[in-house]
Amino acid sequence: VKDCVRVTACRLCDGPLDLIVSFTPTPLGDQYLKEPQPQACYPLDLMTCRSCGAVQLADTVNPAAIYTDYIYTTSISPGLDEHFDRYAESVLERVKPKRGAFVVDIGSNDGTLLKAFDKRGCFVAGVEPAERIAELARESDIPTYCGFFGQAFAEEILQGESLADIITANHVMANVPDLHDFIKGVKTLLAPDGTFVFETGYWPAIMRNRLIDTIEHEHIHYFAATPLASFFLSHGLTLGRVEEQPTKGGSLRGYVRHVGDGPVWTSPLLAVTERASLDADHQAALACEISALRSEIGLCVATKPKSERWVGYGAAVGSTLLCHHFGLGDVLTELWDDNSSRHGLVSPGFHLPVVAPNSSQPDRIVILAWRYADRIMAAHPEHAGKWIIPLPSLRFT
Ligand SMILES: [Zn+2]
Repeated sequence: VKDCVRVTACRLCDGPLDLIVSFTPTPLGDQYLKEPQPQACYPLDLMTCRSCGAVQLADTVNPAAIYTDYIYTTSISPGLDEHFDRYAESVLERVKPKRGAFVVDIGSNDGTLLKAFDKRGCFVAGVEPAERIAELARESDIPTYCGFFGQAFAEEILQGESLADIITANHVMANVPDLHDFIKGVKTLLAPDGTFVFETGYWPAIMRNRLIDTIEHEHIHYFAATPLASFFLSHGLTLGRVEEQPTKGGSLRGYVRHVGDGPVWTSPLLAVTERASLDADHQAALACEISALRSEIGLCVATKPKSERWVGYGAAVGSTLLCHHFGLGDVLTELWDDNSSRHGLVSPGFHLPVVAPNSSQPDRIVILAWRYADRIMAAHPEHAGKWIIPLPSLRFT
């Protein structure tokens, strides 16, 4: 497939990869279009490394295909300003940097997190791959470099800036194909007593909470702390403190420093709680469960009376996997979404029109945004009795 490269070994340690689940190939999950046009489908095979346990996709879609026309900006999502405000507060509390610390945010989007650091007296700079979004950040006075971060980019930043006291990368590392180059860049840019703070999707939470619709091409890696700790160590960095965060259904936040600088935070408990998620038997059980759910939803789809009209609720990136792998795209006629910036677009692959939730009377509403099912049902009591919720297990209400 064009724009897509398959790896044969672990991206972190070069170890052999074993298949966990092969999902139905889909277009890029977030590629909602202004009008229907052919879209390439890419393989979506989830693998695990037999040596270090790192979970990752077998295929890397060329980042340029993903980021050049990126429609998501941080401020669109409600509640994120507050989230980033608390994030900055808690990072500063843990790291306790000197006054006027220099903070670099990698994948800074429109600068929302950096504004929270700026407000607290830090000097800030952002790194953002999408030019249009970098420009938005600059317009609100957040200095922003445009490009893909790595060793060469870090050296370029250092031409004009000092070493960073804090580097943050918020839901970015999972999207980086060459993590070695990325981490070399972090090491280069990080002051000797500096701290690199990352937040990323957490594989144990994905398994525990059945967040399988967070698996998409843009997220190449599904991290756990144990494989990451050995990866950082191979680059002369120590993963110290780790915290599980509720963000996106379950995320890992980690604090990383140069080896030999200051106390090493350890979390022996974490290694134990993570073990199940990295274990081959548990992963095989997850694959069985997904396959059983697929049959169950498949039966539901196959027995839908022809006269019934079914719509989906939720036009987010995760809807794409649900529509393709579970066959839901074949029976839905449109997608409802509360986010007005999605209205008028069509969904990836199935080209289902995205419209505002409305008073038309569909026979069934499949809640693709299942993590928000309770909130959605409470907001639309007029549709009681029509709901189908596909995950964490199929239910009708
Ligand atoms: Zn590995």
